Amino acid sequence: IGAASLLRVLHGAGFSSLTRSAEFYGLGLALGNGDVTLLELANGYRGLAAGGVWRAVEWRAVDPGRPIAEDRRFVSAGAAALVLDILADPTARIPGFGIETPFDFPFQAAVKTGTSHHFTDNWAVGVTGGFTVAVWVGNFDGQPMRGVSGVTGAGPLLHRAMLVTARRYAPSELPSPRAAGATRARICALSGLRATAGCADLDEWFLPGTAPRQDCDWHRDGAVVWPAEYVEWAEQNGRIEAASETAVRTTAAIKTAARGGGAQFQIVSPRAGDRYEIPPGMDPRYATIALRASTTPGDGAVRWFIDGRRVFESRWALMPGTHVVRAVTRSGATDETRIEVTSPRR
Ligand SMILES: [Zn+2]
Repeated sequence: IGAASLLRVLHGAGFSSLTRSAEFYGLGLALGNGDVTLLELANGYRGLAAGGVWRAVEWRAVDPGRPIAEDRRFVSAGAAALVLDILADPTARIPGFGIETPFDFPFQAAVKTGTSHHFTDNWAVGVTGGFTVAVWVGNFDGQPMRGVSGVTGAGPLLHRAMLVTARRYAPSELPSPRAAGATRARICALSGLRATAGCADLDEWFLPGTAPRQDCDWHRDGAVVWPAEYVEWAEQNGRIEAASETAVRTTAAIKTAARGGGAQFQIVSPRAGDRYEIPPGMDPRYATIALRASTTPGDGAVRWFIDGRRVFESRWALMPGTHVVRAVTRSGATDETRIEVTSPRR
């Protein structure tokens, strides 16, 4: 885990365009903030379908006799199979993309889309056991396309290209998690722990030694008891209903206990001592952080102050320097954290 080890895996997978340091990319590397070529992307996904083994791209029309680099493994066969199983699951796409998507094929295929900052460009990759198709959509001068994402832009093109390719090359099966040694386990869909009688449960693949061992303790007596770190999120997202008043009370008690008793009110974001860096080249309008605090019934609206100045939005645009973030509830409870923001490196 961490940007440096992810960068090593990506280098292993053939992304040689990623020439900067792990510190330069930071954790955003996991979300795709590194610039790569479409060919590297296609070959990376092909490597997953090959069970986690990178292979040099071969241009058949050019210099067929030239020796090519040796194959190398960049992830385990188990990890490759699990990623493909997720990307090939049509029901997993429904929450994000809806029931009908351009990514349903009459054969097994794993699909991933991407949309860059400000809709400058988007791409979609489809991979089967037999072939890989990668599509890029954008303006060559870098002009943004308003509201066009990987689903609406590259998606329909990928769909047609996959069907045409399947007429010439057999899609065949993707590597299965079972063949890589994974087994199915029944887990709680909410907590990810081992399902108990009260849980909404689902079957999930686990590689040897990775299945959860603890029984779910979130579902108790027909209600959800949220662990302290999720209470604030659950409240803001309407996951704690009025009907489950018991759950709220139990949860609130756990929350208080977790904080060592008295202190009910707490800043959740940013955390004390957090250090931020404004990413190089990023439009300052997008370099913002969330201002969030835990609230208990009766606290009312929270007022935010940064370095003594009132902030009216729920996000704050980062400014270089050390800052004091203070939150105040209507009932007068306060919390304060100190954060540090550094300028972009040049
Ligand atoms: Zn559960």
